[in-house]
Parts: sequence; structure tokens; C-alpha cells
Amino acid sequence: MPAEADLCQNNVSSITPRGKAPAPMSAKPMKFATKVIHAGIEPDPTTGAVMTPIYQTSTYAQASPGQHKGYEYSRTHNPTRTPLQNNIAALEEGKHGLCFASGMAAIDAVVKLLAPGDEVIAGNDLYGGTYRIFTKVFAAYGIQFRFLPLHNAGELERAITPKTKLVWIETPTNPLLNIADIGEICRVAKAHGAMSVVDNTFATPYLQRPLTLGADIVMHSLTKYMAGHSDVVMGALVTNSDELAQRLTFIQNACGATPGPQDCFLVLRGLKTLHLRMERHCQNGRRIADYLAAHPKVDKVYYPGHASHPGHTIAQKQMADFAGMVSFTLKGDRMEDAVRFMESIELFTLAESLGGVESLCCHPATMTHASIPAAERAANGLKDTLIRLSVGIEDADDLMADLEQAIG
Ligand SMILES: *Cc1c(COP(=O)(O)O)cnc(C)c1O
Repeated sequence: MPAEADLCQNNVSSITPRGKAPAPMSAKPMKFATKVIHAGIEPDPTTGAVMTPIYQTSTYAQASPGQHKGYEYSRTHNPTRTPLQNNIAALEEGKHGLCFASGMAAIDAVVKLLAPGDEVIAGNDLYGGTYRIFTKVFAAYGIQFRFLPLHNAGELERAITPKTKLVWIETPTNPLLNIADIGEICRVAKAHGAMSVVDNTFATPYLQRPLTLGADIVMHSLTKYMAGHSDVVMGALVTNSDELAQRLTFIQNACGATPGPQDCFLVLRGLKTLHLRMERHCQNGRRIADYLAAHPKVDKVYYPGHASHPGHTIAQKQMADFAGMVSFTLKGDRMEDAVRFMESIELFTLAESLGGVESLCCHPATMTHASIPAAERAANGLKDTLIRLSVGIEDADDLMADLEQAIG
């Protein structure tokens, strides 16, 4: 077994099998568009293959007991996974990246850093699965969860106690696109000795990098914008803390929710166009949000890029642009109108998930957020008539024509 310290080293030098010279990395800092293609990724040392090969193997030959090339068993390390982890770490400006079989498996690993009696304060407008694993899985292990509107300034300061060990935020949130002030939340958490974790799935590091704003851990569902093609489920964590990386790497290996090499290949491939896709998602998202806001049959539009959005100023401060998620309600707030819209829409596919190249439309109350009790949804401002759009990278004119016919 390699020493624990070796297990946590997901930095670039550790991808090189032991016994060989580390691959030289350019000392020059890279800009984002260069990083997505090159950071942490070198041509394959054995064949020169430019694209990272799919190392479809569970185990690795050893010359003598314990003498190997840095890889022993694919739950622990896999040569397709290593460059992916390093690339994501570089994109988030973090030191250590870890990939998991899903976003939920990444969340699971973070909560396993805690002990019974510890308290978590989380935003009250979370991905439904995050709420579910907190309340239906980990609450039974003696970890306490409180859900608060952390997008309201001062809320955390008032609520945090010495028992609070972790503060969990999403920003922008799902599906109301509320914005939490990452720098401020992390500052308050740190002052009270709590870790801060930011689910950066909706923004991606192209738009916002929480570690640079003080977060201890960034979490991703890579399934969404990061992989970007709706063909793979995966999650990731990134941290700058050697200690957290060591503990999380231990959990990653001990609990075993690691992704397979084929899926790692797909995410590596998707990431290479992250910047181009996000640029178009942002452009299309803005055009559709503007179109909806001007539509006589549309009631409320939730889009952080609009000056009328309560989180707009903070979003402008911490994000480079506003991504492609737009939620809205129709005038009259009638369920039958929302259902008719979702049955009539053609180019947007009615489906769970988001962040792919294709546009999707979703009904949070019955789909992504059905695991949150109706009363709680209502209390948090999530109307049963809310429609959420994940605006893809098609031609915006075609998307608007589709919305026009479906709104009727
Ligand atoms: C999808 C999603 C998750 C869960 O990720 P999976 O890859 O589906 O397990 C967590 N957080 C957010 C914001 C998501 O959209």
C-alpha cells in the first residue's frame, strides 16, 4: 500500500508512475481556455497518444511485491481518472481534485467528514437530491441539518452555533436562481470554525471559482455543464487543503464510489469545450430571459442577469456571466397552463437534468424537487407552477420560436 500521503497527491507530479521523471509542466500560468485543454493532461507516456487513453483495467502488474508504477487497483487510482482530477483541480484553481461516481457520491463523501452531533447549515433552495441525502440518510446518523435562506445577508451570522461544522451553499440555486454571497458566507463560516462547501454545478469554474473566494471545498455534479453532453453521470470535489484532500481521498478509496475509465474519458472530452459551450449558454440564456420578461403571458422570470433579480449585484461581483438557467411562471399561476406549456414545447425536451448542449425544460415540483415536501417548497418560494429551462447552445431564434408556440 502506498502511504496515505501518496494517496492524496492528485497534483500533476503524482500522475507520473513512480520511478520515472515527472512529466515537465509548463511553468507559465495558463488562461482558462488553455487550461481546459492542457492542464494536468500530457500525451500518454507509453504510446504518445495525444488524447488520454481509456485504461479499462482493474489492476496493474507489479515487478516485485509492492513495486509498481504508481497504480495498484483502479478504485484507488486509474490513469484515465488522474488527469481528469488534475484538470478539474486546475480549473477551480485548487490543489487537489477528486472524482466520484456521481455528484451525490461527492456530496456523500463530504458529509462523511463529519461525526454524530455535528451540525450542518445549508441553503434552503437546494438541489432536491442534496436535501434528500441530508435529511433521509445522514440525519439518521446523528448529524443535524438546518436549512436557511443563506442568500439573505446576515442570516448565517445569526444562526451559526459552535456545533456548526459545515456550511453548504449552492449559488446560483436550483431552481430559483437565488444568489448567495460566497465570500461573505465563507468568511462567517471560517470565523466560527466551520468548513464551507460550495456546490458550483450551476456556475462552473468558467463563471465562478469559490476557492478563490474563501471556500474550503468546491463540489460538482460533472453530469451537467462540466461534461456538457448529457451522456455521463459523475461528481467531483476540489480543495486547496492538504488535510481535507487526504481525508477525502481516504473516503473516496475506502467507500469506493469512484467513476469508471470510460466515463472519465467522456468528461475529459466534454471539458475541452467548456469555455465555448458556457459562452453560448450565457448568450442564449440572456436572450431567452429577456424574451420571457417582455412576454405578456409570463408572470415572473428568475434570472440573476436581470437588474430586477434580488441577487444581481452579488452575482455581478462573483460571476463572470449568468449561465443558461432561466425559471419562470405564467400569469394566472394555473397548474393547467404550466402543464399545457410543458406538453406543447417541442425543441426543449421535458426532462430532468441540465447543462447539456440541448435545451431542456423541467417541472421542479414533480421532477427534480419532488423529494422536498410541498409545504417546505411553498415556504421557500418554489411555486408548483414554476417552469425551469436549461437553455442549450442551439440557435436562440429557434428556441424563442418554440417558447412562443408553447406559451400560446
Ligand atoms: C444534479 C445535481 C446534483 C447531483 O449530481 P448527480 O451527478 O446527479 O449525482 C447536485 N447538485 C446540483 C446543483 C445538481 O444539479
